[in-house]
Amino acid sequence: VERTLSIIKPDATARNLTGKINAYLEDADLRFVAQKRVRLTREQAETFYGVHKERSFFNELVEYMTSGPVVVQVLEGENAVAKNREVMGATNPANADEGTIRKDFALNVQENSVHGSDSAENAAIEIAYFFAGTEIV
Ligand code: ATP
Ligand code: MG
Repeated sequence: VERTLSIIKPDATARNLTGKINAYLEDADLRFVAQKRVRLTREQAETFYGVHKERSFFNELVEYMTSGPVVVQVLEGENAVAKNREVMGATNPANADEGTIRKDFALNVQENSVHGSDSAENAAIEIAYFFAGTEIV
Protein backbone atom coordinates (compact mmCIF):
# COMPACT_ATOMS: atom_id res chain seq x y z
CA VAL A 1 0.00 0.00 0.00
CA GLU A 2 0.95 3.63 -0.58
CA ARG A 3 0.30 6.85 1.31
CA THR A 4 -0.37 10.37 0.11
CA LEU A 5 -0.98 13.78 1.69
CA SER A 6 -4.34 15.41 1.12
CA ILE A 7 -5.50 18.88 2.19
CA ILE A 8 -9.09 20.10 2.24
CA LYS A 9 -8.54 23.77 1.42
CA PRO A 10 -10.11 26.91 2.98
CA ASP A 11 -12.80 27.36 0.30
CA ALA A 12 -14.13 23.90 1.18
CA THR A 13 -13.93 24.18 4.98
CA ALA A 14 -15.69 27.57 4.71
CA ARG A 15 -18.61 25.85 2.94
CA ASN A 16 -18.69 22.98 5.49
CA LEU A 17 -17.79 20.37 2.85
CA THR A 18 -15.25 18.27 4.80
CA GLY A 19 -17.58 15.30 5.26
CA LYS A 20 -18.81 15.34 1.65
CA ILE A 21 -15.25 15.46 0.30
CA ASN A 22 -14.15 12.72 2.69
CA ALA A 23 -16.92 10.50 1.32
CA TYR A 24 -15.48 10.83 -2.22
CA LEU A 25 -12.07 9.77 -0.87
CA GLU A 26 -13.45 6.79 1.05
CA ASP A 27 -15.54 5.74 -1.95
CA ALA A 28 -12.24 5.61 -3.91
CA ASP A 29 -10.93 3.07 -1.33
CA LEU A 30 -8.66 5.63 0.32
CA ARG A 31 -8.41 5.28 4.09
CA PHE A 32 -7.75 8.14 6.53
CA VAL A 33 -4.79 7.10 8.66
CA ALA A 34 -4.23 10.63 10.05
CA GLN A 35 -6.31 13.80 9.98
CA LYS A 36 -6.21 17.20 11.67
CA ARG A 37 -7.80 20.59 11.21
CA VAL A 38 -5.31 23.47 11.40
CA ARG A 39 -4.88 27.09 10.35
CA LEU A 40 -1.65 27.28 8.34
CA THR A 41 0.78 30.06 9.17
CA ARG A 42 2.19 32.15 6.31
CA GLU A 43 5.55 30.41 6.84
CA GLN A 44 3.98 26.95 6.61
CA ALA A 45 2.07 27.83 3.43
CA GLU A 46 5.16 29.39 1.83
CA THR A 47 7.27 26.34 2.66
CA PHE A 48 4.60 23.86 1.57
CA TYR A 49 4.11 25.55 -1.82
CA GLY A 50 7.80 26.50 -2.15
CA VAL A 51 8.07 24.87 -5.59
CA HIS A 52 5.69 27.55 -6.88
CA LYS A 53 7.49 30.56 -5.38
CA GLU A 54 8.48 31.99 -8.78
CA ARG A 55 4.94 31.68 -10.17
CA SER A 56 2.79 34.79 -10.66
CA PHE A 57 0.06 33.38 -8.40
CA PHE A 58 2.33 32.49 -5.43
CA ASN A 59 1.43 35.39 -3.10
CA GLU A 60 -2.25 35.00 -3.85
CA LEU A 61 -1.96 31.25 -3.22
CA VAL A 62 -0.32 31.80 0.18
CA GLU A 63 -3.00 34.38 1.13
CA TYR A 64 -5.72 31.93 0.16
CA MET A 65 -4.20 28.92 1.94
CA THR A 66 -3.93 30.95 5.17
CA SER A 67 -7.38 32.56 4.86
CA GLY A 68 -9.14 29.90 6.95
CA PRO A 69 -8.78 26.44 8.42
CA VAL A 70 -7.65 23.45 6.37
CA VAL A 71 -7.95 19.73 7.05
CA VAL A 72 -4.65 17.94 6.54
CA GLN A 73 -4.88 14.19 6.11
CA VAL A 74 -2.81 11.14 5.27
CA LEU A 75 -4.59 8.76 2.89
CA GLU A 76 -3.59 5.13 2.51
CA GLY A 77 -4.50 2.66 -0.23
CA GLU A 78 -3.36 0.87 -3.37
CA ASN A 79 -1.76 3.48 -5.67
CA ALA A 80 -2.94 6.17 -3.25
CA VAL A 81 -1.11 9.03 -5.00
CA ALA A 82 -2.59 8.37 -8.45
CA LYS A 83 -5.99 7.34 -7.10
CA ASN A 84 -6.29 10.53 -5.06
CA ARG A 85 -5.27 12.70 -8.05
CA GLU A 86 -7.91 10.91 -10.10
CA VAL A 87 -10.73 11.51 -7.63
CA MET A 88 -9.59 15.15 -7.15
CA GLY A 89 -9.84 15.97 -10.87
CA ALA A 90 -7.95 18.60 -12.87
CA THR A 91 -6.44 21.68 -11.16
CA ASN A 92 -8.90 23.94 -13.00
CA PRO A 93 -12.43 22.70 -12.27
CA ALA A 94 -13.46 23.82 -15.77
CA ASN A 95 -11.29 20.94 -17.03
CA ALA A 96 -12.20 18.38 -14.34
CA ASP A 97 -14.00 15.15 -15.22
CA GLU A 98 -17.54 14.39 -14.07
CA GLY A 99 -17.73 12.86 -10.61
CA THR A 100 -14.48 14.36 -9.34
CA ILE A 101 -14.20 16.49 -6.20
CA ARG A 102 -13.06 19.57 -8.11
CA LYS A 103 -15.82 19.24 -10.73
CA ASP A 104 -18.45 18.99 -8.02
CA PHE A 105 -17.11 21.47 -5.42
CA ALA A 106 -14.23 23.69 -6.63
CA LEU A 107 -14.93 27.38 -7.28
CA ASN A 108 -12.06 28.23 -9.67
CA VAL A 109 -8.44 27.33 -10.50
CA GLN A 110 -7.20 28.74 -7.18
CA GLU A 111 -10.05 27.90 -4.81
CA ASN A 112 -10.07 24.30 -5.94
CA SER A 113 -11.04 22.63 -2.65
CA VAL A 114 -8.32 19.98 -2.33
CA HIS A 115 -4.60 19.31 -2.58
CA GLY A 116 -3.04 15.93 -3.26
CA SER A 117 0.65 15.00 -3.46
CA ASP A 118 1.82 14.63 -7.07
CA SER A 119 4.32 11.76 -6.53
CA ALA A 120 5.17 9.14 -3.92
CA GLU A 121 8.44 10.97 -3.27
CA ASN A 122 6.67 14.30 -2.59
CA ALA A 123 4.02 12.48 -0.55
CA ALA A 124 6.68 11.26 1.89
CA ILE A 125 8.09 14.79 2.23
CA GLU A 126 4.64 16.39 2.66
CA ILE A 127 3.47 13.78 5.19
CA ALA A 128 6.62 14.27 7.29
CA TYR A 129 6.06 18.04 7.13
CA PHE A 130 2.68 17.77 8.89
CA PHE A 131 2.68 14.54 10.94
CA ALA A 132 4.85 12.63 13.36
CA GLY A 133 5.07 8.91 12.66
CA THR A 134 3.13 8.18 15.87
CA GLU A 135 0.17 10.25 14.62
CA ILE A 136 -0.38 7.95 11.63
CA VAL A 137 -2.36 4.84 12.54
P1 ATP B 1 -2.24 20.93 -5.54
O1 ATP B 1 -0.71 21.04 -5.58
O2 ATP B 1 -2.86 21.98 -4.63
O3 ATP B 1 -2.71 19.54 -5.27
P2 ATP B 1 -2.26 20.82 -8.39
O4 ATP B 1 -1.10 19.90 -8.23
O5 ATP B 1 -3.45 20.35 -9.17
O6 ATP B 1 -2.81 21.28 -6.99
P3 ATP B 1 -0.38 22.95 -8.90
O7 ATP B 1 0.05 23.28 -10.27
O8 ATP B 1 0.55 22.19 -8.00
O9 ATP B 1 -1.80 22.20 -9.00
O10 ATP B 1 -0.80 24.31 -8.21
C1 ATP B 1 -0.91 24.39 -6.80
C2 ATP B 1 -2.12 25.23 -6.45
O11 ATP B 1 -1.90 26.58 -6.87
C3 ATP B 1 -3.42 24.82 -7.18
O12 ATP B 1 -4.08 23.75 -6.59
C4 ATP B 1 -4.22 26.09 -7.08
O13 ATP B 1 -4.80 26.27 -5.78
C5 ATP B 1 -3.13 27.14 -7.28
N1 ATP B 1 -3.01 27.49 -8.71
C6 ATP B 1 -2.50 26.73 -9.71
N2 ATP B 1 -2.53 27.34 -10.89
C7 ATP B 1 -3.07 28.56 -10.65
C8 ATP B 1 -3.39 29.70 -11.47
N3 ATP B 1 -3.14 29.71 -12.76
N4 ATP B 1 -3.95 30.77 -10.86
C9 ATP B 1 -4.19 30.79 -9.52
N5 ATP B 1 -3.92 29.75 -8.70
C10 ATP B 1 -3.38 28.66 -9.25
MG1 MG C 1 0.60 20.34 -7.03
